Order: sequence, then C-alpha cells, then structure tokens
Amino acid sequence: MEKNVFQLLRIKRNFALSLYAVFMIYFDNAATTPLDPGVAELMYDILRNRYGNPSSVHAPGRESRVIIEDARRTVASLLGVKPATIFFTSCGTEALNTAISGAVEGFGIKHIITSTIEHHAVSHTIDHLHAHQKIEVHHVKLAAGGHIDYADLEQLLSCYSNVLVCLMHANNEIGTLLDLEITSQLCKQHHAFLLVDTVQSLGKYQLDFGKLHIHFAACSSHKFHGPKGSGFLYINQDVKIPPLLQGGGQERHMRSGTENIAGIAGLASALNLACTHMVDNRQHITKIRNAMADQLSNNFKGIVFNNDFSERGLYNLINVSVPAGSVADMLLQRLDMEGVCVSGGSACTSGAVSVSPVLQAIGCDPEKPALRFSFSKFNQLHEVDECIKILKSILN
Ligand code: PLP
Repeated sequence: MEKNVFQLLRIKRNFALSLYAVFMIYFDNAATTPLDPGVAELMYDILRNRYGNPSSVHAPGRESRVIIEDARRTVASLLGVKPATIFFTSCGTEALNTAISGAVEGFGIKHIITSTIEHHAVSHTIDHLHAHQKIEVHHVKLAAGGHIDYADLEQLLSCYSNVLVCLMHANNEIGTLLDLEITSQLCKQHHAFLLVDTVQSLGKYQLDFGKLHIHFAACSSHKFHGPKGSGFLYINQDVKIPPLLQGGGQERHMRSGTENIAGIAGLASALNLACTHMVDNRQHITKIRNAMADQLSNNFKGIVFNNDFSERGLYNLINVSVPAGSVADMLLQRLDMEGVCVSGGSACTSGAVSVSPVLQAIGCDPEKPALRFSFSKFNQLHEVDECIKILKSILN
C-alpha cells in the first residue's frame, strides 16, 4: 500500500517536472546552455559505439584516437592556431587552474595582475597561490561599468617583471568585454604572459588566438550548447608549462586521464556549429535581448541596468537591479515557481544571499536585488512577453 502511494507521488512529480520543462522559459544561458540536438546525437552514437581507449593500439582504440584528433583539428582551425596548441580538459575551471599554476611553477612567476571581477576559477586559484606565498597579486583598477582601466594596467605592467596577466574576455555577470587587442599589445610591450578566460565569449565572437599575443586561453563547451564536463586550454606553441595532473601522460603529457571522447567530439561539433552560425545567432539573440531591455524599462520603475549595451558588452546578457522590497528579495524563487529560469549572480553563487563581488566592484546598490537574464539561439521573442507578464504579476 505504502509502496503504491510513493509510486503515485513519483509519477505525479515526474509529470509536473515534464510540464515545467515544456512551459519553462530558460533565460539563464550564461550559467549553462541546453545541448544542441545535433551534438547530442553525435555524442550518443559515440557513447554507444566508440568505447575504445584512445591509448590502445587495437582498432577500437585507434577509432577513438581519430575522433579526438579530428576534434582537435576542428577546434584549432576555428581559432586560427595549430592543433598541437589545444589541450582538452574536463572543464573551464581545470583549464584555468592548469594555466595559472603551470605558469607560476614553470616560469617562476612572482606577480599576477588580475581584476576583482574574475570568475572564482581564476580568483580562488590566485588567492590559493597567494596564501601559500607563491605570488603577489595586483588588481587592476576598473573604469566605469566594470571595464578594465588600460592606463592602470600599463602602469602595473611597467612596475613588475616576469608577470602573468589573468583577465576574462567576457564577464559572466555583467558581460563587460575585454579589449583583446589593447591588452595583448600591452602585455607584448612589457614582456608579460597573458591568460584570457574566454569561457563566456567563445562561440559568440570570432576569436583568432593565432593573431594575438596570448599565451593561454581557457574554454568550456557547455556555454555554447556543447556538453558539460568538457573544455580545453589553448597554450601558445612558444611556451611550455608543467601539467596539473600526473598520470598516464595523455594530451601529450599536459592532461593525464583517459579522454572523454564523446565530450571532446561534442565540444568540437558545438563550437563548429556556433562559429558557422555566429552572425545569424548574434542577430537573433540581440533582437531578443533588446526587446527584453525595452520591455523592462517600459514596465518597471526604478530599475537600473548594470550591463553595457554597446559593442563593449556581451550581446546575450542583461543584468538589472530592481528596487528593494519584500517581493524583490524572493524574486528568483517566485520566478522559478512561475517557470522562469534566471540568475541572481554567477551560476556558482546563485542561491547565495551574499552580494555579488562583481556587482559590489562596480558600485551597485547592495540593497537592490539583481537579476541576470541571458539568452541563446533557442529563445524566442514570445518568451520575452511571457516573462514580462510574469514579472509584472510579481512586482507591480
Ligand atoms: N570562467 C567563466 C567566466 C565562467 O563563467 C565559468 C563558468 O560559469 C568558468 C570560468 C568555469 O567554467 P566550468 O563551469 O567549465 O568549470
């Protein structure tokens, strides 16, 4: 009897979850994106049929090896670099940790220049090295809106030698974009090593690492409709660093561990799709983002936009502070109950009540809750109308 009740409850819960998925509005694509169906199919085929260990010499092993090397060539050609500069990892965090720890150990780096609005994968790695007295940290000043103050970056670069600069290309909370030309030129002039976190920008912008003075770039496939648990680190062919993981010596000794074949193939396929349809996707997403921004400002008094709508900001993101109040404090939860998925900060901190350090750094009012809407090629204009209707029913 008791078993039947639980079964019934489970069926009801699964039915409710399926309904939620059908009617849900997913505006949290900076946290993660849904897997592209074409990529899912490719991965499913590999998961079912290509189980050989790429290090094995027999036929199934060689088949898996071919999949990985094809993926490496695809990624490299999309970035204008040689395949030997691409090292597959388990995620963006691992790629960033490998580059930072490897550069400190391999180049004897004593000074890291970074900003106060980096992702925790960068800031916590740097904090850890600092706590163990391996490096000194210098935070570059931020200009209005959370952009890097390039004059201050130059000033810092002129003060120290053997420096690693760690900056993100696109900020995951407010979407500010780093000027890669200026930054890499400054690093070149001052003989500094440069690591760029391209997790939020790769697949959205044409990035040609081969043409820039960049030593490392980190990437994560789940931000452009690829699978989770799959990323890569670009390492400029002129530099060599020690690996983070010791073991079987895979990825030419840079990343030991049996390769995630389906994840790697899925990453390459998703990046290929993103780059092939980049212009159309950008147009579609920008239209949705602008419609959302217009409707937010037309319907709600006292809201403040924290993102940059110009070319210097991510085109798929809106970050907005809403006036404080009892309803506003529960906004994320209320939206979730209505089937709208957005974020209050970065994915790692969503759900946390503490004020986002990024919003703090750009001087946002800590009393006002912030919402991040982030869009993808799968969103539609009618979802904006629906979301605004729901927001009005909660806030007005
Ligand atoms: N860097 C940025 C800017 C991010 O937004 C994220 C994830 O949200 C990461 C790094 C970490 O990437 P991953 O989730 O693949 O570890």
